[in-house]
Amino acid sequence: MSDCIFCKIVNGEIPSNKVLENDKFYAFHDISPVKKVHVLIVPKKHVANIAHLTEKNEEYVDGFLPFVRDVAKELGISKSGYRLIFNTGSEAGQTVFHMHAHLLGGEPMGWPEV
Ligand code: 5GP
Ligand code: ZN
Repeated sequence: MSDCIFCKIVNGEIPSNKVLENDKFYAFHDISPVKKVHVLIVPKKHVANIAHLTEKNEEYVDGFLPFVRDVAKELGISKSGYRLIFNTGSEAGQTVFHMHAHLLGGEPMGWPEV
């Protein structure tokens, strides 16, 4: 999508601090981190959020969790622990409408966190 920030990051039009990528997914550090480790993980193909997944791109996101696991390994937080959050839709606070997971870690976190 031409006016999507995360599409522009994926294709290199907007610079980002990359953590890891493969043929389908891209992981990069959030520009305004809320935890010591705050990484965004996006599918390279545009889809607005989980609610917009169809049979076509469901297949595309099949590898999402294995990729998250690899990103956490790369960041060195596999053993200490991490949290994965998908803000989906406006009431959940989604501001960028290109599906993404926030991978948070690197410090102790409470639950529930308000
Ligand atoms: P949302 O609120 O949609 O769940 O999360 C969007 C996230 O994208 C926010 O945490 C915000 O800091 C991050 N973000 C927005 N614009 C940019 C950008 O240009 N570069 C990076 N690295 N992160 C961004
Ligand atoms: Zn996009």
